[in-house]
Amino acid sequence: MRPESMKIFDDLRNLNVLTIQNAKKNGEKVVGCYCTYSPQELILAAGAHSVTLCGTRQEPVAAAERDLPRNLCPLIKSSYGFAITGKCPYFEAADLLVAETTCDGKKKMYELMGKIKPMHVMNLPQSADSEGALEQWTQEMHRFKAWLEQKFAVQITEEDIRKAIKLMNRERNALRRLHAVTKFKPSPITGVDLLVSVWTKGFNVNKEEGIKLVEDLAAEVEAMAARGESPFTADAPRILLTGCPVGFGSEKVVRLLEESGASVVAFENCSGYKSLDRLVDEDPNKDVMVALAEKYLNIPCSCMTPNQGRLELIGKLAKEYEVDGVVDLTWQACHTYNVEAFVIRDYVQKQLNLPYMHLETDYSESDVEQLRVRVQAFLELIQG
Ligand code: SF4
Ligand code: SF4
Repeated sequence: MRPESMKIFDDLRNLNVLTIQNAKKNGEKVVGCYCTYSPQELILAAGAHSVTLCGTRQEPVAAAERDLPRNLCPLIKSSYGFAITGKCPYFEAADLLVAETTCDGKKKMYELMGKIKPMHVMNLPQSADSEGALEQWTQEMHRFKAWLEQKFAVQITEEDIRKAIKLMNRERNALRRLHAVTKFKPSPITGVDLLVSVWTKGFNVNKEEGIKLVEDLAAEVEAMAARGESPFTADAPRILLTGCPVGFGSEKVVRLLEESGASVVAFENCSGYKSLDRLVDEDPNKDVMVALAEKYLNIPCSCMTPNQGRLELIGKLAKEYEVDGVVDLTWQACHTYNVEAFVIRDYVQKQLNLPYMHLETDYSESDVEQLRVRVQAFLELIQG
């Protein structure tokens, strides 16, 4: 009972590699991004493709550890490993890279990566609502725009940016619709499939085609729900996943939860809903760069201090998706999410009155059986 359209998503990664290689042959420009704070609208407005770069697989970690400390988050090591081994076709295709000063590990790694390809690092304020933060982040938008203009020898007009904002908002709305299918009880799609489709979408080169694919999948799954089709039984515990970003190759906790009988229905993390919750304001009377700065500054990443927005988003999703428990996944050595786990536990248990479990792991398979025991005990607790 898997949606037919998932077959397209399964093949999409390879197809996208060909598309990006062809685009390069035609002289089209490519900008690679790692983080949800990257304002894709400015890249599109510069007439370039914006692609997500690989960083969710274990394979290149060993190569990265030759340059980076071993006790560093696997996401950082994987991203860097892909860059230095030449195994990420998107990195290879990228003319330019954009990065942000988020967590310490990432920003220091970017200094090394910046030696491989031209990279622009945006200075992200440490808190979303401190005095001057919006002005500073708006200035960073201008700096990035000027850098793109200079590197690509183009002029980015306000009209270009407004067009790109509309396109990106349409993409966000399509992805929101796809996420919303798991509100049906039982969910008509597995969390693993939802994750894979959303993650694969990040590699999609042609935005219009990508939006259509997501809309087609959402429509198919909505129709399945209307017919009462689901891979789950009605009593499968409904789980909200929060914490560090998860992608294909690092989906082991989602897989373990579902193999153990749960249904992962909500993804609060960056690879899930975090970046979709807020659209860019399309008000034609509003300064377009301020509109962009507002949207991106309000992403509730644990690099922000304080990070009240994450609690609000978890509370909202827990209610809307009628979840039975919250799993907080942290990659090893990710200090910001690890420390924030204390606050999240307190909020989930005391304010939402829901069971909470914190898991800390990396991309390797070495602890799968240990994790399975903890996951099963947690699900038994939920089921009483
Ligand atoms: S968790 Fe924070 S640093 Fe990591 S990708 Fe998301 S926004 Fe960027
Ligand atoms: S998971 Fe944590 S340590 Fe790793 S890149 Fe994201 S914020 Fe940084």
